[in-house]
Amino acid sequence: TPDPTLRPAPQPEDADRSLRPQALTDFVGQEEARANLRVFIESARRRGEAMDHTLFHGPPGLGKTTLAQIMSKELGVNFRMTSGPVLARAGDLAAILTNLEARDVLFIDEIHRLNPAVEEVLYPAMEDFELDLVIGEGPAARTVRIELQPFTLVGATTRLGLLTTPLRDRFGIPTRLQFYTVAELDRIVARGARMMGISADPEGTLEIARRARGTPRIAGRLLRRVVDFALVEGNGRLDRAIADSALTRLGVDHLGLDGADRRYLSLIAENYGGGPVGVETIAAALSESRDAIEEVIEPYLLQQGLIQRTPRGRMLAQKAWAHLGLPQPRAAGQ
Ligand code: ADP
Repeated sequence: TPDPTLRPAPQPEDADRSLRPQALTDFVGQEEARANLRVFIESARRRGEAMDHTLFHGPPGLGKTTLAQIMSKELGVNFRMTSGPVLARAGDLAAILTNLEARDVLFIDEIHRLNPAVEEVLYPAMEDFELDLVIGEGPAARTVRIELQPFTLVGATTRLGLLTTPLRDRFGIPTRLQFYTVAELDRIVARGARMMGISADPEGTLEIARRARGTPRIAGRLLRRVVDFALVEGNGRLDRAIADSALTRLGVDHLGLDGADRRYLSLIAENYGGGPVGVETIAAALSESRDAIEEVIEPYLLQQGLIQRTPRGRMLAQKAWAHLGLPQPRAAGQ
């Protein structure tokens, strides 16, 4: 019977899963992380041991899941996938751990959202490949120790700061993923177009890459939408004009900002004179969760130099006023 705590690997945006790179050499970008992983994978293979536990952190859609899958392929072991919120009880995790084969990769997405009772089980499992299970209740309760196969835990989180220190310290290979450059995204989009059998102009793929918010998942989604427009309203060719008109119709501006990004910037400009304003206030005004603001919206705006984080709250940077086409008030930024 399928285990509800083990999620099937396909995700909605992977309707065309062949777009997902299968080997480290197909994976574009993240040069430093990739070079290091190559060494650690090769070393684990030569020693015939489980690779050390690895933590990927960074904004959504940058390739954490993809890298974990690639690791298992390159190590020649099984890939098991679950997520923090799905593992409600210690027994859920125990069931998964006891089913792992030697050197398997267990991927836990959103690992910062593990229930503390589940996290407790993970510590001895990660450190000594042992499981301490309490069986029974009350005076009859006893603890049994179960030996596990050595395995590699790959954790992914969008919020490193929310990980407890004991959990963080048990990862031998912490790896931060960065936003992608336009050139890297261009290669990803061009490869995607090739795999979809679409003929694309270099200016067409570049236009998508520029507006993909530094994120391969967004690049893939925009590519599929532009191809829809090219097939139905264009001549089937992905060129700059069709990319530009499709992206504009999708509400993606020339910096790659979408409606949520622009609402965020406009709110601070128009209602708070450019800030500083606290994240809770922004979340309430936009009817968004604080997590969505901090995990999805702000990282890219910060990286683009559109906003600043100060101890008193968020502030618009000069570039944001220019982007909104609004004059920067004299007091702002002081
Ligand atoms: P995360 O787990 O960080 O949210 P994923 O690994 O699920 O991100 O990647 C999101 C999408 O972007 C996937 O469809 C994947 O194929 C694609 N992708 C991510 N990184 C790359 C890359 N370096 N090259 C090509 N495609 C990528």
